[in-house]
Amino acid sequence: MMRLVVVGNGMAGSRLVSEVRDRDPHIKITVFGAESRQPYNRVLLSNVLAGSSRPEQVRLIDSTWYGAHRVEAAFGDAVAHIDRETRHVVTEGGRREPYDLLVLATGSDAIVPPIPGVERAIPFRTLDDCERIIEAAQQARNAVVVGGGLLGIEAARGLAGRGLPVTLLARVTN
Ligand SMILES: Cc1cc2nc3c(=O)[nH]c(=O)nc-3n(C[C@H](O)[C@H](O)[C@H](O)COP(=O)(O)OP(=O)(O)OC[C@H]3O[C@@H](n4cnc5c(N)ncnc54)[C@H](O)[C@@H]3O)c2cc1C
Repeated sequence: MMRLVVVGNGMAGSRLVSEVRDRDPHIKITVFGAESRQPYNRVLLSNVLAGSSRPEQVRLIDSTWYGAHRVEAAFGDAVAHIDRETRHVVTEGGRREPYDLLVLATGSDAIVPPIPGVERAIPFRTLDDCERIIEAAQQARNAVVVGGGLLGIEAARGLAGRGLPVTLLARVTN
């Protein structure tokens, strides 16, 4: 039986898994995710930050889906190594999983500039980040958002909507 391993449980990885299962009821599918959450729609995180959606409202796949569709999901255990010789992935937790077909759907990370003091800042990329920002906002008197692109503006809007005075810092280029 063909063994498919998908690394990444973001929007691309989770959609791939459901599409493959729809087309092939037999293939053995294992999906690994570094985030311990069920897959969610990252594009809608701004709504969670603004308070207009709850985390469960942006979920893409329910946890019961995996068992019902015979897909093994290992979330909260990142793949740390690919052994191409023996065709295995190895997770941070030490699990080895063999594959015939390996898909990397690992997306991207937030770029955190190397500015002194940056360790006190929270990036805006994951649902966990969102919850940390909301928690910090509850104690804060004001907020500074660094980055004036789409995500920076959405973060600033969300925080302002929570009643915080917000300063948005953007690099101006000609
Ligand atoms: C707040 C916000 C708003 C956005 N709004 C828009 C928008 O309006 N329009 C738009 O087009 N795009 C938007 N984007 C971008 C969009 O979310 C991404 O393009 C999309 O999420 C990419 O999906 P992906 O599955 O490829 O990657 P990701 O969503 O990054 O998912 C990759 C997953 O793989 C996991 N992973 C990484 N490495 C490993 C590993 N070694 N082992 C196991 N798992 C691993 C990660 O933890 C992550 O969960 C937005 C992004 C954010 C953060």
